[in-house]
Amino acid sequence: MYTINSFDAVALLSGGLDSILAARLVQDQGKRVLCLHFYSPFFGDPAMLPAWEKAYGLTIQAVDLSEEFASLLRTRPPHGFGKVLNPCVDCKIIMMRKALAIMHEFSARCIISGEVLGQRPMSQRRDTLQIIQRDAGVKGLLLRPLSAKLLKSTTVEDSGFIDRNRLLAINGRGRKEQLRLAEDMGLSDIPTPAGGCRLTEKENARSYWPLLALYPGNQASANDFYLANAGRQYWRRISLPRWLCIGRQQADNDRLLSLAREGDLLFKCADFPGPIALGRQFPGQLWDEESIMSAAAFMASFSPKARRAAEKDVSETAVRLHSGALGLDGPGRMLRVAIARSPEWQEYPWEEAREGIRAERWERPPENNPTPV
Ligand code: SF4
Repeated sequence: MYTINSFDAVALLSGGLDSILAARLVQDQGKRVLCLHFYSPFFGDPAMLPAWEKAYGLTIQAVDLSEEFASLLRTRPPHGFGKVLNPCVDCKIIMMRKALAIMHEFSARCIISGEVLGQRPMSQRRDTLQIIQRDAGVKGLLLRPLSAKLLKSTTVEDSGFIDRNRLLAINGRGRKEQLRLAEDMGLSDIPTPAGGCRLTEKENARSYWPLLALYPGNQASANDFYLANAGRQYWRRISLPRWLCIGRQQADNDRLLSLAREGDLLFKCADFPGPIALGRQFPGQLWDEESIMSAAAFMASFSPKARRAAEKDVSETAVRLHSGALGLDGPGRMLRVAIARSPEWQEYPWEEAREGIRAERWERPPENNPTPV
């Protein structure tokens, strides 16, 4: 267990090369660095921590930002979205604020980040770096070792606690200097260039956006966003919106079961192997019988064996409906449906999501509206 004064610095560690190099540059000056790996439904992979600690010689702690992030999306990020649904400036501010609190907890002296000046158009321009620093309250405390010599010195550099001469002046999008530095440090396991944030990918954003646009009372939680990552995502928008998630493979089915909660509807074919489907009932919007039967007929069409049986004149398929609170162990209710892949159930179109995101961008006051990237 770490105690107060266990660390000299905390470092934001995404798992990308820049964040690893930044932490190592300070650690290699003999400083005790605690790396913070933030995770949420949209980014981060805490399962990687043991492997990273071993490969890069770092001490890493996972930090859950799931609810903070769900709240940021619900209330809409003050600095807007980037190209897709990525609120990069506000994301950095949230991470910095959290890092600041942990820095104080350990009486550490600075926060390290792997940001490189000019590398990312939205969040790593000089003016944006300053906004992040100001709004997160980390002015003078935020050390960016890869670009430090191009930036104003921090308190730890001014006091001589960190040797500024051993920090770097990297600028721009190239990776050459970082790869050379990794080689000098003897890092053999070089992570591939960062990506990894689902909010930057249209395919994922179109699963998230309906939660922000259709959820009654704007109440989408972290659990909802995790659910939007699991399996195929369908919406039926005949009157009230109905959300159905269908497992693609066993891992998805397990995930759906682990995310199921009271009020959810779990569907499973009774006589054939096939996917599990989870229908999420929104508060105050219980599903009517027609929606339930339509979802059962639709999900059963994803069972190849049930489909083949239907083609051989088996007119009805049995689907068991369980409650999310009890899971598949509960008694359930038997439904008899004619398999149908009804066009009523549709994936949410990216074009519609994009229009919704754009409309909100225009509504925001211009001073908070960064140039889209
Ligand atoms: S890409 Fe994702 S994780 Fe990275 S700063 Fe933007 S919102 Fe945050």
